[in-house]
Amino acid sequence: MICEVIVDIAHSEVDKIFDYVCDVPAEAGARVDVPFGRSAATGFVMRVKETSGYPAEKLKKIYRVEQGTPAINAECLSLARAIARRYRVPLALSLRLFLPPEMRRGKVSETYRTFARFSEDVLIKNAPQQAACLAYLKEHGETDAARLREQFGSAVNALVKKGGILLEKRRVLRDPYKGMEDRAAEHVLTSAQQRAVRAVEGTEKTVTLLHGVTGSGKTEVYLTLIADALKAGRTAIFLVPEISLTPQMLSQLRARFGSAAAILHSGLSAGERFDEWQRLREGSARIAIGARSAVFAPVENVGVIVIDEEHDGSYSSETAPRYNTFDIALLRATHNGCKLVLGSATPAVETYKRALDGEFALVRMPDRVNARPLPDVTLVDMRREVKRGNPSPFSAALRERLAATLAEGQQAILFLNRRGYSQTVLCRDCGYTAKCEQCDVSLTYHSEENCLKCHYCGARYKMLEACPACGGRHIYYAGTGTQRVVGELKKLYPSARILRMDNDTTNGKEGHYRILKQFSERQADILVGTQMVAKGHDFPLVTLVGILDADMSLHFPDYRSNERTFQLVTQVAGRSGRGKERGDVILQTYDPDNAILRFAAAYDYEGFYRHEVNMRAATMFPPFALIVRVMVSSADDKAALEALRGVYGALQELYAQHPEEFLFFNRMHAPIKRIQGKYRYQVLMRLVSKSLLERIYDAASAQTFRDALVWVEENPSNLS
Ligand code: ADP
Ligand code: ZN
Repeated sequence: MICEVIVDIAHSEVDKIFDYVCDVPAEAGARVDVPFGRSAATGFVMRVKETSGYPAEKLKKIYRVEQGTPAINAECLSLARAIARRYRVPLALSLRLFLPPEMRRGKVSETYRTFARFSEDVLIKNAPQQAACLAYLKEHGETDAARLREQFGSAVNALVKKGGILLEKRRVLRDPYKGMEDRAAEHVLTSAQQRAVRAVEGTEKTVTLLHGVTGSGKTEVYLTLIADALKAGRTAIFLVPEISLTPQMLSQLRARFGSAAAILHSGLSAGERFDEWQRLREGSARIAIGARSAVFAPVENVGVIVIDEEHDGSYSSETAPRYNTFDIALLRATHNGCKLVLGSATPAVETYKRALDGEFALVRMPDRVNARPLPDVTLVDMRREVKRGNPSPFSAALRERLAATLAEGQQAILFLNRRGYSQTVLCRDCGYTAKCEQCDVSLTYHSEENCLKCHYCGARYKMLEACPACGGRHIYYAGTGTQRVVGELKKLYPSARILRMDNDTTNGKEGHYRILKQFSERQADILVGTQMVAKGHDFPLVTLVGILDADMSLHFPDYRSNERTFQLVTQVAGRSGRGKERGDVILQTYDPDNAILRFAAAYDYEGFYRHEVNMRAATMFPPFALIVRVMVSSADDKAALEALRGVYGALQELYAQHPEEFLFFNRMHAPIKRIQGKYRYQVLMRLVSKSLLERIYDAASAQTFRDALVWVEENPSNLS
């Protein structure tokens, strides 16, 4: 038998299929050890066949074939091929997506335990412990030997000697969720939830967009769809932003599905993650739950795929292959003939457009469960606070409401939009922000050159000394960090218990998980944080949300900044008033007349969408155009420039042939010229359609450059 093998070395020069002879049974997808060059390598069987096109004496023999269920199933193998082709990455690299990293590194230890089981009745004289032990085993069946010894001591070994007990050592899978207190199980579906479930299951379309306001009970809809898939004998994939895998969410899933759910999240140890993956592959777990990488879960016969908070930026991978989770999920849904559900209170503009255009089914859940009201949003004009001589990050209105919340024993979340800070330039007197004359995106301050730059066209502008609109001199470059906010809070409310959640406090294995758990267990009164606090958390005691700087992300140099701001404000506001008590939101801004903030404060998604989609159409930004960036990076500036020249030359040919496809085409330094010692350049393009995309990938991957990396980004969310 001949096996076509791909060696697990992600380099384009060895990205070829090699034929090997195999004398033991092997299946496609199995891991193998093979001789490769002068040493050995691991690889995967891509195909099994009878004969090879190469002469038999030239073929080498496979050393070892991993037994058991193949590591990668047939569907995933073909998916890996499709990904390698689509994103022009070596097959070895795309195959890695389908394996837990710890498996490749060979570092996971398997755990074994010994079990005791009744074998036969043996003679027992004057040994009541032995008699009791045997009776226990007869009644309870197989028992963990260590536990049995705790209970019956040396009687166990005596019985083993006599042959009354049989011991067996077996591999066991770690269960990271053991002992997790199970929260009340399923709700009776509301009629809106029932309607949503029926709509998803009834539509002929593969994809359904579930547009439900925060607190409308989308989770219960997903869980019902998943339960229905299991009932039909199928499996399910449930994708959430990593941050949403809160302790409450985990115990809810556990309560509902028990060990049928395999939950993959960053809080697990390598061994635990490996075992969860193993349970899916072997079929003992049938629901894969996790962040974007769970879309590659080794499940078969998938009955439904859910992408919760579909607008979330974490669904695009920022390392090679730079896949979009939706695209992969759609391939899997099509392959399995199952439904793909996208859920959000604030769908991405592109997603919503596709739904309105009829490509996706659209289901709306416009009300909160039990007709709970959405919280009232109050816009506070921070320019007035500055004029009144209030330099603190908190407006008078926020301080008042915060004091009341603490007095009533309820919880508050304060949200700080740090992403925008330290980059955007803002006049604190009038709210003016500097924008590019060509691109209608905000400029970014570059401290090392002391200038302003447009990240879309590369234009440079002089630094502002005074505001061009009002002449004011309170120009703002760097803002309040979460740390400073916590410091000020402590001064104002010395007895309040405050938790901080941002990139600095969420490192390490447990990260945000621990903080969210503390907050949900009421060990704190105020949670201060960045984007992380905005996600789908359900804290029923939170009745106040303060958004300290709503407009900061409006001016982020990204064509999606309006969309991001609307989503952020809506999401973070949605954390308030989810329990019995009514909630409030205080939204502080330097731009209280801003249309996007007004739409968000009124929960007017449709209004926002129309406003935004018209603007994108007029300015020719996605989804009406495609932004493509070809990146070049190298530790050696000369090598980077040489690669840039090569890539740019190839792209220039395309440009010359199809100038009508290009709205913009230029090469330049990347906005951040050097990251981790690597010099960075880019060719930036805005295209009217996707028709040249394949050829751009071709051009970017046609040559390999010494010491330089070249990659392609489609509608990148991060243009640094
Ligand atoms: P969303 O994901 O749409 O923001 P959730 O799924 O978190 O909303 O639900 C909001 C709240 O409503 C949760 O506290 C949840 O437990 C509760 N809930 C959901 N469905 C029901 C139901 N059918 N009956 C009662 N409470 C429900
Ligand atoms: Zn510009």
